[in-house]
Amino acid sequence: MYDVIIIGAGVSGCAIARELTRYDCTVCVVERDEDVCCGTSKANSAIVHAGFDAQPGTLMGKLNAEGNRLMYEWAKDLNFAVLPIGSLVVCVSDDDRPGLQALLERGEANGVPDLRIIERDELVELEPNISDNAVAALWAPTGGIVDPFGLTVALAENAAANGAEFRFNEQVSAVERVDGAWQVTAGGDKLLARAVINAAGVYADELHNRFVELSSGDDTLQQTMTVAAKPLSIVARKGEYYLLDTTAGQHVSHTVFMLPTAMGKGVLVSPTVHGNLIVGPTASDVDDKESTNTTPAGLAEVVSKSSLTVKNVPFREVITTFAGLRAHQEAHDFVIGEIEGAPGLFDCAAIESPGLTSAPAIGVMVSGLVADALKLSPKPEGVFDPTRPGVVNLVTTSFDEWDELCQQDPAFGHIICRCCRVSEAQIVDVIHRVPQPRSLDAIKRRTGATMGRCQGGFCSPKIMEILERELGMSPEEVTKRGPGSELVVGYNKDRIAAPDTDGEGGEA
Ligand SMILES: Cc1cc2nc3c(=O)[nH]c(=O)nc-3n(C[C@H](O)[C@H](O)[C@H](O)COP(=O)(O)OP(=O)(O)OC[C@H]3O[C@@H](n4cnc5c(N)ncnc54)[C@H](O)[C@@H]3O)c2cc1C
Repeated sequence: MYDVIIIGAGVSGCAIARELTRYDCTVCVVERDEDVCCGTSKANSAIVHAGFDAQPGTLMGKLNAEGNRLMYEWAKDLNFAVLPIGSLVVCVSDDDRPGLQALLERGEANGVPDLRIIERDELVELEPNISDNAVAALWAPTGGIVDPFGLTVALAENAAANGAEFRFNEQVSAVERVDGAWQVTAGGDKLLARAVINAAGVYADELHNRFVELSSGDDTLQQTMTVAAKPLSIVARKGEYYLLDTTAGQHVSHTVFMLPTAMGKGVLVSPTVHGNLIVGPTASDVDDKESTNTTPAGLAEVVSKSSLTVKNVPFREVITTFAGLRAHQEAHDFVIGEIEGAPGLFDCAAIESPGLTSAPAIGVMVSGLVADALKLSPKPEGVFDPTRPGVVNLVTTSFDEWDELCQQDPAFGHIICRCCRVSEAQIVDVIHRVPQPRSLDAIKRRTGATMGRCQGGFCSPKIMEILERELGMSPEEVTKRGPGSELVVGYNKDRIAAPDTDGEGGEA
């Protein structure tokens, strides 16, 4: 029996888990995939939005502004990469100036500090590659960029260090009321909890609708912040991207947005914390919630729309393309709270953009709601440890510091990923952390290895060998991203006809 089960180990589930471990309670995170950060949290623009987009008075508006503030604070304790580079929303026609002014006023109403409209001269100084048509921009110095993998892993590692349990490769298939508790069927196991939190990304509508079936309809129950016991529908809104090599990473120095449209914030051009250039996303609704392929039409749209705000984007430097799915619901706001008439069942649903930015504030809010409902007490002073050791980054380490690291552990001098400068020592470090990475992509999320120009062409076999050695795995057990993505399926020599040594014919 746990106090709380969280369904989904994306950035929302991991932030809630981390914040819940401040309280005296047992927490279990159940994830259908092989690791944290395998859903929408792994495929997005990675922008720390300043908070001028969402309508004032919405949960999105409130949690974006608060999440932005907490993001920079939490990075100090949790050691994930975040850079406050600032953002620009570019206006390319004088006719659009009212739209820019409206964004400024919305941001101020949401409490975003230091917003200002700048004119073309100042804009060109900030961004020499800005479009020749740009006339003005909204400057938001508190906008930034973050490592979405690093953030989610850091939250999960800190939650685990403070007592949270993680279960992977276990899809939740049922939630029922059993003997006054909630029973969650995950993989083959039945788990009991006093409270269950639905943080299932694009699948959160399925769990919400199950929660609604479990609601008693009793509106006299004493509940804190509730979500109406009505069906919810989440549409997967796909966003496609180009990712360019680090050689193109300085083409812009801030996040450059176009003016938002009814479908979202439009196509942006931005550096990433790893030094690449990201260009995208598109926005199109799709029926299939697993549809993360890119399309020729989507990528063509990325090229044409990005050229409206930034000129000469060096698309010949593209190293990969990818797509992510926003968990969009019609009212375009986060759905957070306890289900009416179902005490102990909580939604953290429809967390579309700016959900990454809002994650710290979502973690604080949802854990607070659950703590109130279950009457949890904070752990005694000094028991919760808010800090988590970072992973060495050799790209930002000076040669003297690197030399010192090599004196301590020569494996820091053994470079495994040449594109992203990742050593054996960093890979071994992350392998022995909790939650434990067991696949190539899980190592990528924690160290950046395989993310460079060769996209794992050179380093994948070396990382496989390290995983085999450190975890006692056989080559057939190492996967790219969990069950079904095995990399070794047999040995060449086993497939060649055995020689005829006994005169009775060889074995095929
Ligand atoms: C194109 C795009 C661009 C974006 N850009 C930004 C941005 O720049 N800045 C920003 O702030 N936000 C951005 N976002 C939004 C942000 O990425 C999301 O809001 C955030 O990642 C949502 O996290 P989550 O944990 O709620 O969902 P997810 O990361 O999807 O996590 C949900 C998890 O639940 C698991 N799950 C589902 N069903 C079950 C089940 N039955 N049993 C067990 N596990 C289950 C899934 O496997 C998944 O791991 C963007 C999103 C997209 C798609």
